[in-house]
Amino acid sequence: MNYRHAFHAGNFADVLKHVVLALVIEHLKLKATPFRVIDTHAGVGVYDLSAEEAARTGEWRDGIDRLIGVDAAPLPDDVRRLLAPYLDAIGRLNGGARGPLYPGSPRLALELMRPSDRLIANELHPLDRAQLEIELRGDPRAKVLGLDGWQALRAVLPPRERRGVILVDPPFEEAGEFERLAQGLAAAVDRFASGIYLLWYPIKDMAAVGTFKRRLAMAGHAKVLAVELRVAAHMDRLAAAGLIISNPPFRLEEDLRTLLPFLAARLATGPGAAATATRLSSSQ
Ligand code: SAM
Repeated sequence: MNYRHAFHAGNFADVLKHVVLALVIEHLKLKATPFRVIDTHAGVGVYDLSAEEAARTGEWRDGIDRLIGVDAAPLPDDVRRLLAPYLDAIGRLNGGARGPLYPGSPRLALELMRPSDRLIANELHPLDRAQLEIELRGDPRAKVLGLDGWQALRAVLPPRERRGVILVDPPFEEAGEFERLAQGLAAAVDRFASGIYLLWYPIKDMAAVGTFKRRLAMAGHAKVLAVELRVAAHMDRLAAAGLIISNPPFRLEEDLRTLLPFLAARLATGPGAAATATRLSSSQ
């Protein structure tokens, strides 16, 4: 377990993942009944973009900084409305300033959740888990677990509220992660069919990504979207990432059709930037 998210926090892939997570949570808030957020690979909760790890890669400068940094152009109105939950949560975390703190998925979720909603944040790495516990300590809505992410998923589904979003955001350090994602989604849907699932994946090995998506398309899930953002055509370091959204909320696809072209243009680092939302299941 060498992966440390502190080197990558706030990069283009985080922006896509966290924008979608925020929109899904806003959708869940349209109903008064409580929901649960389950984060199987939660990280440490908050990242300091002025710290050494973030400075070493500078990835956040081509991510969140392009949206809210001092040199960022103003956002178009329709985009600003859709990004508001995400950007307002970052603003609150920083007491109204632009930074330097960036919320990881569990902190972002808590910023957006209501008093009756609940979060389960699972993190296997002992140091990251300890930091996460400190970060979420004192918030009665949050519970931290230290299990393997897949084991955690089995243990916590279905949630008591029978409503919720599940983020599965593994580090892709080990072989077989795509197979585990596809199998894990099938097993999770068996336990909690109405859950909204967000599965993150890197786009480096095009053949593996293609096989993964074909497998999901054939799995008979009710509705699955693959949302992908490429910031440059090159393949030498991570330049593209995707998010599988199973059971996407009503209107999310439409909102993404507004957001994705903007994100591709604003976050581009070279020729070939593009963003797509593709339906994978045949029954929709
Ligand atoms: N979801 C976080 C966010 O959006 O802010 C980022 C998570 S990061 C991409 C992946 C995390 O998974 C790392 O913190 C890593 O320590 C943790 N991890 C690695 N293997 C794991 C496993 N088998 N089960 C749970 N967590 C694991």
